[in-house]
Amino acid sequence: MKKITNDRLSELIVMRSVCQRYSKGDQSINALVDVDFTLCRGSTCAIVGASGSGKSTLLNILGLLERPACGDIEFAGRDVMNASSDELAQLRNREIGFVFQAFNLLPRLSAVDNVALPMTYRGVDRQSARAMALSQLQRVGLSNRALHRPADLSGGQRQRVAIARALVGEPALILADEPTGNLDQACATEVMDLLLALNRQHNVTLVMVTHDTVLAERFERRIEVSEGQLLDRSDHAAA
Ligand code: ADP
Ligand code: MG
Repeated sequence: MKKITNDRLSELIVMRSVCQRYSKGDQSINALVDVDFTLCRGSTCAIVGASGSGKSTLLNILGLLERPACGDIEFAGRDVMNASSDELAQLRNREIGFVFQAFNLLPRLSAVDNVALPMTYRGVDRQSARAMALSQLQRVGLSNRALHRPADLSGGQRQRVAIARALVGEPALILADEPTGNLDQACATEVMDLLLALNRQHNVTLVMVTHDTVLAERFERRIEVSEGQLLDRSDHAAA
């Protein structure tokens, strides 16, 4: 993979004129339209917007899960558009942790084995992977639940396991798509406190899609997606 530049280390992701199109039957949907976006290392950014506006599409592109139809993307100085699928998968595994609304934990595995999974994919032996997973569970306050299966945990605890799994590879970036959407208010606040503490203490860059405007206020930046375009809703944004 070609390394474009190394003199802008503070920029984790740079998107230029990015667009994404989907086809539905004979209809073509412009999910993202000419998007320019820069994400700095160690920053926090909330993504808000109506349902169907393009939030998940943006997150999937930031997460290297989808390649856009046009435009340019640099991720940690790498040229994403010209990278192979294997290179993207490797970059994703090393640099990005994902947290989803539905937790996406494997029901048959214990908390610690769920958290260990990304390390196993990386080729780490099982014993070391479990040790790493245990220390992540400790970080999210769940070391006493390591052997529980997801069904035996509360919603908030399940999401904390998912966060531990996202963290186990020491990623530069956490991408969370409505991680508090299935949680009650108290658990949502708890999960949010945890994510923001991880950002402050470990400098993990945090991008989160949320419908909750009060939660969004806690982020340094707020970006609204509207019909595939980005609007800066941060306090410092020009009116
Ligand atoms: P949001 O997350 O803001 O609700 P999405 O990014 O999921 O919005 O979707 C943006 C638009 O793209 C919507 O009109 C949606 O129906 C469409 N879309 C998203 N993914 C696909 C897909 N895989 N195939 C076809 N249309 C899609
Ligand atoms: Mg969505």
